Amino acid sequence: MIAGREGGCDCGKVRYRFKAEPIVVKCCHCHACQRQAGSAFILNVLIEPDNLELLGEEPEAWILETASGKGQQNMRCPHCKVSVWSVYNMAGDGVYFVRGGTFDDTSKVEPNLHIFTESKLPWVEIPEGVEQFPQFYSGKDIKRAFGEEGAARFRVALGG
Ligand SMILES: [Zn+2]
Ligand SMILES: [Zn+2]
Repeated sequence: MIAGREGGCDCGKVRYRFKAEPIVVKCCHCHACQRQAGSAFILNVLIEPDNLELLGEEPEAWILETASGKGQQNMRCPHCKVSVWSVYNMAGDGVYFVRGGTFDDTSKVEPNLHIFTESKLPWVEIPEGVEQFPQFYSGKDIKRAFGEEGAARFRVALGG
């Protein structure tokens, strides 16, 4: 269960609470994510802005690159500069991609799907049966990868 859980930046000035379960939890293994995280991948917990309650200060937007080439507004704490969520230009502002590692309790953050596995570090093992894509998924994969409810919420969040 993610609903009701809180998280935030390193210094604690930007804080959030999930008001609902995520649309989906994605693990991105692209090199841009690896570089931005300084680690093996980024965990993105997708949620509608209405379902993300802001408890602290407003984060500030940094423009970063993405594997799609369309870029993202990466929302960071104005003080400690830790990245808390992103708005991807490819998906629009109807869905926030909250950084999974920023939850107070990260133990419940488990990806439903993995993308850009072509650049996945070889020692990262994806559990059997979990959806994975060498690059990005296409529209026809969303229902399978997000589940019926997640796919419906994602469609609404995208404005379609
Ligand atoms: Zn901070
Ligand atoms: Zn990525």
